Amino acid sequence: MRNKLIRWVLGIGALIPVSTLAMSDYISPSPIDYTHYHAKLEPSFQSKSVAGSVNISFVPKTAKLQTVTFSAKYKSIRSVKLDGKPQNFAIQDEQLNVNFIDPLRINKSYTLTLDYQAKPERGMKFYDDHLFTVYHTKNWMPVHNNLNDKASFELELTHHKDLTSKGNGKLVSVKTLDAQRVSSHWQQHQPAPIYTFGFALGQFETLTESINDKAISYLYRQESSSGLNKQSLQNAFKDVAHMLEFFEQKAGFALPQPAYTYAIVEGYMAQEATSYSLVGEQFVHTVLKDKNENWFIAHELAHEWWGNSITCANFSHFWLNEGLVQFLVAAYKQELFGEHAYNQEINLAMQRVTRAVDKGKNAPVAFRHQIEESQINRSMAYSKGALIFYMLRNQLGDKTFWQGLKQYSVQHQGQSVTTDDLKHAFEQVADQKLDVFFETWVYGDAIPQLSL
Ligand SMILES: [Zn+2]
Repeated sequence: MRNKLIRWVLGIGALIPVSTLAMSDYISPSPIDYTHYHAKLEPSFQSKSVAGSVNISFVPKTAKLQTVTFSAKYKSIRSVKLDGKPQNFAIQDEQLNVNFIDPLRINKSYTLTLDYQAKPERGMKFYDDHLFTVYHTKNWMPVHNNLNDKASFELELTHHKDLTSKGNGKLVSVKTLDAQRVSSHWQQHQPAPIYTFGFALGQFETLTESINDKAISYLYRQESSSGLNKQSLQNAFKDVAHMLEFFEQKAGFALPQPAYTYAIVEGYMAQEATSYSLVGEQFVHTVLKDKNENWFIAHELAHEWWGNSITCANFSHFWLNEGLVQFLVAAYKQELFGEHAYNQEINLAMQRVTRAVDKGKNAPVAFRHQIEESQINRSMAYSKGALIFYMLRNQLGDKTFWQGLKQYSVQHQGQSVTTDDLKHAFEQVADQKLDVFFETWVYGDAIPQLSL
């Protein structure tokens, strides 16, 4: 189909010991299942802080649980209660340790209430007329630290009545609190990865369009501040309907939420949250100048399926979120702009990988042991990850490859995944073992040499 010259250097493929082929991915067990967060928060533009409380519902999966830990970075904790009863707590090394007066019972549901204030230096951005949370949730709210454990989220956000808010999921009510303030109540029923919890708040205008049965909205600052208006937004985001159709078809299931919002904020920003994403005004201006620069619109939308719904179980499999989405953006651009655009994206990924390797930063894209977030090699997870999907597509052929991706996506909708899940789905559809391919490119550090 698209091949001009493709040279694959398969250095170690033939030398993989049989013993490694039988290994499987590891997910460390957790003694707690976190089920639901319900936050009542009020941000302050003036002090660049947020204050309030969060109810955290959880179920101990181990007998006699005595302590739980959350990130206390940027936060002061005022009180901790368990089912209404005050508990002992201490902050040490930026960690909040809650020590239960009585050990907890296995499989019983509990709710912890934390009263706190956060002044996050990261994780929240404040401007004169808008603010938003952005990766990472733990910086502005006490949350658990297990990517594998999704939870539902509810947010009652107190703010000035003239501001517009966006939270995860659905807006269920806006209550008047006093002459100046209201409380906007957002509800995300479907469990989501914790890092996708968030909100945006500001003097936003709203533009909404209906695509099939989905409401797609754009929150944007007025033209005098953002340089954007209804017309230019319609122009910049004109391909969203086409993108939706493309990703729904590739995933085999519809956009997981009834609505989706692009919150267009100051600067250069591209960050997914569940049911919305933050995109920077400056990126919107680049796409208005050059329609080929629409990667961020597709990238963040694609995360609604791959990342938010189908989530890597730990950071060892981060490429299943980012490498796959980077590849799918390339595939989408192929559909929209043709072969040249696809090759260009793959070449760009190749250049990024080559640069990383030249700097001595070669690494596998996935690991069988569990790595920490700080150990992620982004060039490998994003760009080599995208190249691996490109090579797999070439190896299996279009029909089998897209069927395999659909099988993987449908099978794991709403779940956490590791690389084994992806591999098994492709093996099933292709009716062939892919051990050598995965050992070489994914768990191994072989570097593809592609020139398109
Ligand atoms: Zn991404």
